[in-house]
Amino acid sequence: MAEAFSPELLALYYDRLFPYDQMTNWLGYATITGPTELLYRREFSFTLENDQYLRYKAFRDADEFKSAMKKLQPYKIDIGAVFSVSVSPADKGKVDANKFIPEERELVFDVDLTDYDDIRTCCKEANICKRCWQFMTAAVKVLDTALREDFGFQHLLWVYSGRRGIHCWVSDYPSRMLTNEARSAVVQYLTVVEGNENTKRKVILKDPLHPSLERAYSILEPMFYDVILSESGQDILGSPDSWSKLLEMVPDEELRSNLHNKWLNNSSPPRAKWSELKASVEAIIKDKKRKINDERRRNLRTCLAEIVLAYLYPRLDANVSKQRNHLLKSPFAVHPKTGRVCVPIDARKIDDFDPMQVPTLLDLERELNAPDDKKNAQTFANYVKFFESSFIQPIQRSLIKQKKTLAEAQAAVTGDW
Ligand SMILES: [Zn+2]
Repeated sequence: MAEAFSPELLALYYDRLFPYDQMTNWLGYATITGPTELLYRREFSFTLENDQYLRYKAFRDADEFKSAMKKLQPYKIDIGAVFSVSVSPADKGKVDANKFIPEERELVFDVDLTDYDDIRTCCKEANICKRCWQFMTAAVKVLDTALREDFGFQHLLWVYSGRRGIHCWVSDYPSRMLTNEARSAVVQYLTVVEGNENTKRKVILKDPLHPSLERAYSILEPMFYDVILSESGQDILGSPDSWSKLLEMVPDEELRSNLHNKWLNNSSPPRAKWSELKASVEAIIKDKKRKINDERRRNLRTCLAEIVLAYLYPRLDANVSKQRNHLLKSPFAVHPKTGRVCVPIDARKIDDFDPMQVPTLLDLERELNAPDDKKNAQTFANYVKFFESSFIQPIQRSLIKQKKTLAEAQAAVTGDW
């Protein structure tokens, strides 16, 4: 069988398909009135086939970017910050280190399936399947809504990481200017699941729920049965080992042991078990005769939401988001292990996204060699088109608007109408 990735296929991809113009338009925040100097202050880093790591590369335009890519054939391409001075290996030595500071950077997020290994029952480590990909679907839905509704960001680029996760590049001007402290605060706001695989209660909620968590719960609760409980999902209630972990989150020992013993003795389907659990929790909350204190009652009231969020709320790789100068793999880079391209994802259609359908370099070679074959529909061109129309063009329109507003404000000051 032909390999999905090879140096020859990579060379072909960098020569004929990689979207240099679109990438440089985005990262230079160019408008139709012309590019900005931002691009040349932007750090790119390349990892070569022999693991040689080249940091602080910078390019003036798409042509320079393309020549470097064709010459060096990087196996990994990362994008860093916009620095206060032009970035090049030469400058790095010459310029006083204090002046060499990261000034601007998209707010980026990285969610990876390896952070779900304590609850994934279908796959481990690098492996993924349709079942566990649903964790990423849930993450995109919650984060996309929170970033738009709670922070007002509009220019979000979602990207498949090429293997087992997703990235998000928030590219609004205010998000690019956030300090490291502000980035940490955003990450904190979007972190709900805490602790490690040994933590029993990973989510602790207050009653009533914060509006952002209430909204996340309303997004995730309808997915919870199919993705987590059902036999065609993670089947968490299918074995004593995995249902014990779920029961640990219910703050009532008697209830836990009752259900555990009941489930051991009859093999009821997951929907019946979940209904039993919900009913038992409700019964204790409503039972006025039972002497439980207010705190216990409150804990029971939030525990179902805590369970749903513990399994489905996005688990961010916080370190990626906290620092302006943290590198992140470039959109349209290729994952050497899978040969798949890090393609943009339409968050509105995340339910339909299937990572197994993302083209590999081999698929793209076939597409290039038989462009009229119906089976090789123009998949790659469509990804680039989507990148342009849904992400780059809206950024350009808002930059033009911003410039116009600025010009009008200046004209008003100088009386130059
Ligand atoms: Zn899986």
